[in-house]
Amino acid sequence: TFRAVVIDKTEAGQQVAIRDFDDADLMDGNVTVRVTHSTVNYKDGLAITGKAPVVRRFPMIPGVDFAGIVERSSHAEFKAGDAVVLNGWGVGETHLGAYAERARVKGDWLIPLPTGIDAAQAMAIGTAGYTAMLCLMALQRHGLTPDRGPAIVTGAAGGVGSVAVALLSGAGWHVIASTGRPQEADYLKSLGAAEILARDQLEGAARPLGKERWAAGIDTVGSTTLANVLSMTRYGGAVAACGLAGGMDLPSSVAPFILRGVALLGVDSVMAPKALRVEAWARLARELDFGKLAAMTTTIPLDQVLDAARDIVAGKVRGRLVVQVAP
Ligand code: NAP
Repeated sequence: TFRAVVIDKTEAGQQVAIRDFDDADLMDGNVTVRVTHSTVNYKDGLAITGKAPVVRRFPMIPGVDFAGIVERSSHAEFKAGDAVVLNGWGVGETHLGAYAERARVKGDWLIPLPTGIDAAQAMAIGTAGYTAMLCLMALQRHGLTPDRGPAIVTGAAGGVGSVAVALLSGAGWHVIASTGRPQEADYLKSLGAAEILARDQLEGAARPLGKERWAAGIDTVGSTTLANVLSMTRYGGAVAACGLAGGMDLPSSVAPFILRGVALLGVDSVMAPKALRVEAWARLARELDFGKLAAMTTTIPLDQVLDAARDIVAGKVRGRLVVQVAP
């Protein structure tokens, strides 16, 4: 057996506990990994609190990402002792996940730990940071460069937001960080934000078109926030949308698209193809400022995951949370 966070479904609803889990109950997979680090993402918060139907199988070990060492493998690319990283693919949703000392997964879901970073740094980046990089890559594929104008990041003090601020500023952008936590202004400036915009400036019904303020955006909030961001995006600009911390809806109009040629770029990390993942992780290892990454990261033990899950859905987590599963 090994220790794991386990979600069970009973008549009373969803129950979460840290308990022993039997190896024999692990699901099919051709690689077994000794998990050393995981993280707490917003989706993990939704899964553990049951606030949204993220978990599609019970019992479930939540946790959508991990770093660890291969124990056993019949996959051609991996052998015992290899350091690996996993993000998404339904792990922690439909397949037993990361908050456990052991995971058994499909080798096709794994990527080698990127050169130059250790497992703790990989999980400080985590799915949040890897998604922030996917957003930056989407903006760049669209042809956007810092000379086109500022870039806005919404939910800036959160996990995706903090990494997005650091990446954009590192790439030379004038970053406008939108946050509902004015007390985090100094934190956001230390990550590279040039301006702070209060969250409420982007709430409320969006006008079809507003004043043109930024050329690019990374939005983690959705709903009226994304609608307002779109309405204030400069002619020919683009917004990468990856989140729903403010809601799943998008009460927008077509005006920004048809009158300003603005593009809305959807970003998904869960099913992203392997080549894109490998590129994103290689770029993170090269381009992210690891001093800034350390400054945005808090490390917690496995038994604090349940509290952290409640905190993240309440919007109370700053930056990134690494879960130290094993030394
Ligand atoms: P997080 O650390 O909780 O960050 C979310 C941030 O959004 C919060 O820190 C807060 O920032 C802001 N926020 C929270 N509640 C809000 C509300 N009701 N209205 C407006 N703003 C609110 O979570 P995360 O792990 O970075 O994830 C961010 C979002 O991206 C989540 O929706 C997550 O599901 C999504 N995501 C998607 C993918 C993908 O593949 N598409 C991958 C990873 C994450 P401030 O306090 O600074 O305002």
